[in-house]
Amino acid sequence: MIRQTKVKTPRRPAPKKPSNTQKDPVGVYCRVRPLGAEDEECCIEVISNTTIQLHAPDGLKANRNGEYKETQYSFKKVFGIKTTQRELFEDVAKPLVEDLIHCKNGLLFTYGVTGSGKTHTMTGSPGQGGLLPRSLDMIFNSIGPYQAKRFVFKPDDKNGMEVQTQVDALLDRQKRDSQTSVPKTPSRRILDPEFADMISPEEAYKADGVDEDSSYSVFVSYIEIYNNYIYDLLEETPFDPIKPKWNGAGTPLRHNTEFIPPQSKILREDQNHNMYVAGCTEVEVKSTEEAFEVFWRGQKKRRIANTQLNRESSRSHSVFIIKLAQAPLDADGDNVLQDKNQVNVSQLCLVDLAGSERTSRTRAEGSRLREAGNINQSLMTLRTCIEVLRENQMCGMNKMVPYRDSKVTHLFKNYFDGEGKVRMVVCVNPKADDYEETLLVMRFAEMTQEVEVARPVDRPICGFAAGRRQRNQAFKEELTHRLEERGGPVDGESQTVLSQLLQSFPPLPPCEISGPNDDVTLPKLIEALEKRHKIRQMMIGEYNKTANMLKSILQEQDSNVLSKENFIQEQRGKLGEKDKMIQNQKNEIDRLEKKSKMLEYKIEILQKTTNIYEEDKRSLRHELESREQRLQREVSDKRRMEARMQGIVTDAKLKWEKECERRVNAKQLEMQNKLWVKDEKLKQLKAIVTEGKTENRQPHRPSREKDKDPPKRSASPSPVPTGPPVRPLHRRSHSAGGERWVDHKPTTNVDLDTVMQPNIPNAIKVTAPSEKALSKCDKYVLTHQEVASDGEIQTKLIKGEVFKTRGGGQAVQFTDIETLKQESPIPASRKRRSAETGPAQEGEPMEGDWTDVETRCSVAVEMRTGSNLGPGYQHHGYPKRKKP
Ligand code: ADP
Ligand code: MG
Repeated sequence: MIRQTKVKTPRRPAPKKPSNTQKDPVGVYCRVRPLGAEDEECCIEVISNTTIQLHAPDGLKANRNGEYKETQYSFKKVFGIKTTQRELFEDVAKPLVEDLIHCKNGLLFTYGVTGSGKTHTMTGSPGQGGLLPRSLDMIFNSIGPYQAKRFVFKPDDKNGMEVQTQVDALLDRQKRDSQTSVPKTPSRRILDPEFADMISPEEAYKADGVDEDSSYSVFVSYIEIYNNYIYDLLEETPFDPIKPKWNGAGTPLRHNTEFIPPQSKILREDQNHNMYVAGCTEVEVKSTEEAFEVFWRGQKKRRIANTQLNRESSRSHSVFIIKLAQAPLDADGDNVLQDKNQVNVSQLCLVDLAGSERTSRTRAEGSRLREAGNINQSLMTLRTCIEVLRENQMCGMNKMVPYRDSKVTHLFKNYFDGEGKVRMVVCVNPKADDYEETLLVMRFAEMTQEVEVARPVDRPICGFAAGRRQRNQAFKEELTHRLEERGGPVDGESQTVLSQLLQSFPPLPPCEISGPNDDVTLPKLIEALEKRHKIRQMMIGEYNKTANMLKSILQEQDSNVLSKENFIQEQRGKLGEKDKMIQNQKNEIDRLEKKSKMLEYKIEILQKTTNIYEEDKRSLRHELESREQRLQREVSDKRRMEARMQGIVTDAKLKWEKECERRVNAKQLEMQNKLWVKDEKLKQLKAIVTEGKTENRQPHRPSREKDKDPPKRSASPSPVPTGPPVRPLHRRSHSAGGERWVDHKPTTNVDLDTVMQPNIPNAIKVTAPSEKALSKCDKYVLTHQEVASDGEIQTKLIKGEVFKTRGGGQAVQFTDIETLKQESPIPASRKRRSAETGPAQEGEPMEGDWTDVETRCSVAVEMRTGSNLGPGYQHHGYPKRKKP
């Protein structure tokens, strides 16, 4: 066998990670204290019950040129200045106390600048007890009746807990009682005034679900960490300045004013990898008052040490540890189970940290400066640890957390590494002076909130049936009752026996026989023994009776239990049925829900479709309306137009009827004239033709005229024999003189109602030209009527000169044409007509017509006899003239 040599302690395996994966973030709360009377400017505002807002004080704002703006910080909960200690406890510490009672660890610390209210929050003052006294009170209110006898639980100095037998515990108690004169359980009345009225009875809290079948014991420790040294505030040294010890010789070892600096303690790791202060005093306390008294003792010691060593308390961390040991009662429910493995120890750590300011608030010189540095160092380590933890958790890294760099963090290691609930109350003073420090506090607090700690798991319960304590108590009561019954009401002896029974047998008298004549001792002894025998008999009887009774009770209980079990079974069956029914209903509900969803969906789609159609309908209706309107308009337009057209048509019809009538008349006239002219020409031609062959032969009149008027034709104008005939123009002026005219007016002429009529004086009026008339005259005029292109009748006066032919006949040479024209006063119709002929011909209407007649006349007149050209013609280029 190889024995391990005593070298360095081998490194223990890494602490077992808790099996549960559930984690909770560190609960960070913020408490704002009221502004002090001397402070004026406030730089913190509570916005909601989770958020505060910091705004830079006026001076800072001016200096930093607006660099500091308002910042908000959120916490699990924010407690404003009006928050009472009770309210704070209820939210922050009560759950931790409940956890403690249910075997779970907790850590609660206050953090903040000096003067921000950390101590007020943790400890409080008379009438305003803080979290610590309230936690102690709640613990004792909860476990009070189930506490084990003093010394049944005994710390093993390795952070563990042992269980002692009742006897050993009794022995320890007797030992302590002989050593100290301190009253076992101080009452509220004799408490130090400092702790009087910390908590009013009506504010008392009690945890639920306390296991009555366990026995409990509370142990408290109180340490101070200053300058990275740990001091035990409850250590009772022989030189305790508060309680001076005396040596055996009866003289004090030291004078009580002489102060001995306390020895610092070291941290150790127990077998469960939990850190503990080695050799630290753990005082078992049985009541709130006793616990207060112990705490007060530690406080006093701390104060004296600080005064003596000229230390500043604001730079030390104070740690108050409440340990709760609990173990199940044995099967009888009478004693604590004598099994160390069944002992559970949970602890609640209440820490009032040093002020978080970067430099000492008062003097910082020499050794004090060094201390200040150390204090800063430990808080700095705390910050670093939190930062690394956060980083590891958030980024999945495995960086080493420097817990060992300071005592405080090293002590807290288990909480962050193992399991437990961690809570922090960040205290802030809203005064302007603290602003910059408060900002740092806020940042740390925010970061801390992001760290998660494994949630403590529930401990398995021991294998014993529940309700043991109660049964045991009931049994004891029953026994007492029965014994009382048995003893009878006024039996003095049995009273004694009873009382003896309850304690033990009476002691035997001295049995030493002084001599042969001693006749007192033996009879006394016999008497005593007889008494004992009697008692024994009685007890046996009692025992049997009780046993029988118990048997019957048990049987009764058994049958009770059996029937109860049957009932339970029955109920279970029913429950199963109900469950099935519920399941069916659930399925049905699910199905219906699905269906309803489907239908909803369909409805939605239909709704959408309806909307689309509705929209279409609206737009179509709109279009229809507009079209109808347009149609209406068009119809009325059409009607108007029709009416107008009707008017125009009737007008035009009337006009055209008239016009047609007139034209027909005119045409008739023209045709007649033309006929006549043709006749005339024919006659002339005949005359010309016949002139050469048969002179003096009577020309034939055209058949028509012959019927009417048979006179002979005088003569046809003959061709000019030599040179062109003299053609004096404009001889009308002369005509009025000595000239004589043949006025030829055919009978077909219509008698026009005109004013201007050709009236030639001395003229021989003929309806047909005759030789006789022509021979007497030298001028000839033919009045010729025809229809002009505008439908009016125009009269032409065709003038000619009469001269004698060589053959002795008469000939006429036409020289001039005058036109007389009657016009309608309606210019519109004329204009329209003229427009039809085209603008080029405007100004010279009817030219075509008379030109035609004139040409024919000219041809008739100028044809020469014997021309080898045959019937030819010659233009004379007579100027055309119109009569206005
Ligand atoms: P710290 O421990 O942080 O240095 P203290 O707890 O000693 O601060 O508080 C400083 C002073 O402010 C004390 O006089 C305390 O009574 C007072 N104080 C702190 N917090 C409050 C509060 N919430 N309500 C009333 N007074 C308070
Ligand atoms: Mg303080």
